[in-house]
Amino acid sequence: MGEYAKFNGEEIKIGTCNMMYYLRYDQKNLVEPIPGNIDPVKDIRSIWFRAPRADEENIMPGEFEYYGFCGSKPIRIYIKEHYKNFAEETKELCLKNPGLVQLSHKETGILINANCYHGHKGENAENVHYNGFNPNTLGIVGIGFRDGEANALIGCVACREIFARFTLNDLEKVAPFGDDVINFDYVIHQMLQMEREIA
Ligand SMILES: [Zn+2]
Repeated sequence: MGEYAKFNGEEIKIGTCNMMYYLRYDQKNLVEPIPGNIDPVKDIRSIWFRAPRADEENIMPGEFEYYGFCGSKPIRIYIKEHYKNFAEETKELCLKNPGLVQLSHKETGILINANCYHGHKGENAENVHYNGFNPNTLGIVGIGFRDGEANALIGCVACREIFARFTLNDLEKVAPFGDDVINFDYVIHQMLQMEREIA
């Protein structure tokens, strides 16, 4: 269901269901809630905000582009080498929550569904093999406040499944890929702000 709010007196779309595609956390007080819709301040514990990106800093509520996931382009991350246990836990989560990729062959019209394990090699049909395997498919796709702390929603950029939540403590064990360093810092900054303001 579409969620709307008022911004500068005009009705704008802020998201769908509990995903605030068109609203950043730091903009939650800029919009005026409309009865019957999500109130981003009161409903803070049940919604997810668009992952904040430095390159979208000057964009106003409701004016963002929609790139899938929770609105914004995911901020690509990988688990740092040192954190073997965390890497193992994340791997288990990936293997337990496969997404789906569809492969199509134009000439024959054949369509094959395969499981995506978000950077891990898991079970697939007998004749499905890996070639040029890509282990780095994780990205931060949104942020929100759950169970007393800030959480980042983690999705797979290959199959688009959102399958995990990382806390600030978890995020210390990951690093962003080159282009996303500044965006990653922005996410951490907003999550820290969230913990100061809500906790
Ligand atoms: Zn995946």
